[in-house]
Amino acid sequence: MKIKRLEIKGFKSFPDKTVVEFKPGITAVVGPNGCGKSNVLEAIRWAMGEQRARTLRGKKMEDVIFNGSDSRKAVGMAEVQLVLSNTDGLSPASMADYDEIMIARRLFRDGDSQYEINGIPCRLSDVVDFFLDTGVGKNSYAIIEQGRVDMIVASKPEDRRVLIEEAAGINRYKSRKEAAIKKLEQTKQNLVRISDIVSEVK
Ligand code: ATP
Repeated sequence: MKIKRLEIKGFKSFPDKTVVEFKPGITAVVGPNGCGKSNVLEAIRWAMGEQRARTLRGKKMEDVIFNGSDSRKAVGMAEVQLVLSNTDGLSPASMADYDEIMIARRLFRDGDSQYEINGIPCRLSDVVDFFLDTGVGKNSYAIIEQGRVDMIVASKPEDRRVLIEEAAGINRYKSRKEAAIKKLEQTKQNLVRISDIVSEVK
């Protein structure tokens, strides 16, 4: 699964619709300091479901909306669309029939959020699950920011293991295991309550 196209509008330093095409091979984004190179990467991360404003170098999520410049007024909505090729069979089974998958995310200044997969409104968790299933979750090794290479080289073996686990694509199983453990815990508590009630009735 590869990123084919990225469309950004109203996100950070991009008030107007900006399209980045990712052709086969390596794509390099070059430009002077502060021109918005990192913002392009953050747009991808955001569309993939990032919920932590600090990871996107902001204090609150609203900071991703273009907040004006000397020559432009602020806008009311940030929108990012990510178009992925889907010809390698890595997508979840429910998406297997599509050659392209489009993920869209919007955020309005009043706090309203919208998420879409192939034009169909969905929840944030659907987007997160979609990427977990492909092994390209927002925390995966697929995006390596400035400074992370140093961090990896200098990290302790147990921290490096986490990275290897991510690369091996076991994150999705870990998160499902955590969800199952939570459910088991809840069920255990329910059983205790039921046995209390039964002994009261007796
Ligand atoms: P460098 O080469 O120094 O790492 P860069 O090309 O990666 O820089 P970015 O860090 O992506 O640049 O972009 C920084 C610019 O984005 C700054 O000029 C900042 O003012 C602008 N910016 C960030 N958030 C917003 C926003 N919400 N509205 C308008 N501009 C924003």
